[in-house]
Amino acid sequence: MHHLAKELRLKDIEKEVKICKRCALYATKKNSVAGNGNPNARIMLIGEAPGYNEDARGEPFVGAAGKVLDDLLSSVNLHRHEIYITNVVKCRPPKNRNPSKEEIKACSYFLYRQIEAIKPEIICTLGNFATNFIFERYKIKKEGRISKVHGSVHEVKEASGVKIIPLYHPAVAVYNVGMKKTLKEDFGKITNFLV
Ligand code: SF4
Repeated sequence: MHHLAKELRLKDIEKEVKICKRCALYATKKNSVAGNGNPNARIMLIGEAPGYNEDARGEPFVGAAGKVLDDLLSSVNLHRHEIYITNVVKCRPPKNRNPSKEEIKACSYFLYRQIEAIKPEIICTLGNFATNFIFERYKIKKEGRISKVHGSVHEVKEASGVKIIPLYHPAVAVYNVGMKKTLKEDFGKITNFLV
């Protein structure tokens, strides 16, 4: 798909997310967070849901976890304008509780369309929640929690060979230098696939 066509599709999705009432989260959010980045991205990063700062600003991965993410990206010479970042659920669940099954189901309508528009070569799932969701979507057997599967690579032949790489959520490295080292090593693997 042409860059402009992708951009227009993503903009349409963003507009729909802004006025969406498909689940109850619309009533408690300040701002929805559709996602942002490059429509032509080869890498898509998917987290769980917006938190306090994301809800306040309407942007994904701002605040402390966003800073860690920026550091990790620059450690492998990547920048946000080259990738696309979003979450499974686009509105913040009150008090950062886990999104419910119904909310995930309602909101996946947007995530599936974003993946379809961008057609990334690599999808990195950030944390257990997004990993479970994407593994289920692509029928990948999950051999344990993120502590076990982080950094593993799963090619989905039926979906144009997209590679799914589960990673720890950057929030785990905000106060933990050891986790940041692990995340850096995993990020290093991503670039091996960008020839
Ligand atoms: Fe709509 Fe998703 Fe927000 Fe629910 S979380 S209101 S489905 S955009």
